[in-house]
Amino acid sequence: MNLKLPPILWLFCLLVCIGHGCNNPPKSNVKEDELIKLPTVQRQSEEGGFSLDYVTGKFEPSEHKDFTVIERKYCSRDGMYLRKEAYEAFKRMHHAAKIDGVDLTIISDTRNFKRQKAIWENKWNGVTLVESGQNLSKTVSDPIERALIILKYSSMPGSSRHHWGTDIDINNWENRYFQSGQGLIEYEWLINNAAEFGFCQPYTQKDENRPNGYNEEKWHWSYMPLAKQLTEFASKNFKNSILSGFDGGQTAEEIDILNNYILGISQSCYHNSKE
Ligand SMILES: [Zn+2]
Repeated sequence: MNLKLPPILWLFCLLVCIGHGCNNPPKSNVKEDELIKLPTVQRQSEEGGFSLDYVTGKFEPSEHKDFTVIERKYCSRDGMYLRKEAYEAFKRMHHAAKIDGVDLTIISDTRNFKRQKAIWENKWNGVTLVESGQNLSKTVSDPIERALIILKYSSMPGSSRHHWGTDIDINNWENRYFQSGQGLIEYEWLINNAAEFGFCQPYTQKDENRPNGYNEEKWHWSYMPLAKQLTEFASKNFKNSILSGFDGGQTAEEIDILNNYILGISQSCYHNSKE
């Protein structure tokens, strides 16, 4: 049926729609910009459906509509969360691995700002010992130097890929584990098959192709179809200056967390993920 309304009727429908807080304005006839005048900052920060609050982990995964709880058989404890798309892809990968005799267990899931702040500050203040039992608050007084040691394996709160719900740690937090025996079989399976399900290892060995960023993490896998978009969002909207609200945050700008860490991932992730 071809309904042709006179322009005056369209305007009437439009006014009724706005008056009722309609979520789906007739896009084909009226430009979005003419309908809703949002402040510039809000429009920029919500580009692609993402917001800076989300990208920097300022939310509760259990209350976020795009997240879901992970079934216990896929993970190492109760109450783990992931983005729904990443979880569905992981389940498919888990199933395929199982057929090949490989068990994949998620040992770390979404971590919001609050959780990452606790991890970071415990290392910063010497509650958690690092580098073979060092209390950094006693052994390293220079803030930049102290931050760089923690950054070998831990993100500053607000800059972790674990905030996004697209990234998981699998099976074990030691590279050594993946170098022989069962660990090597698991790692080789992931290297050969993970891309088929959209997963990629972002923190590969550091070399001329990946000179900056965290050390190698054979356990950390990223669901690229979504993480790729989030990385792009971060590269456009994230500023080092927004990293604050935790001990040591003043070092973020000098270290350039955005370029050296958030964007310091393996370039092969951009070419290999097939989903
Ligand atoms: Zn990780």
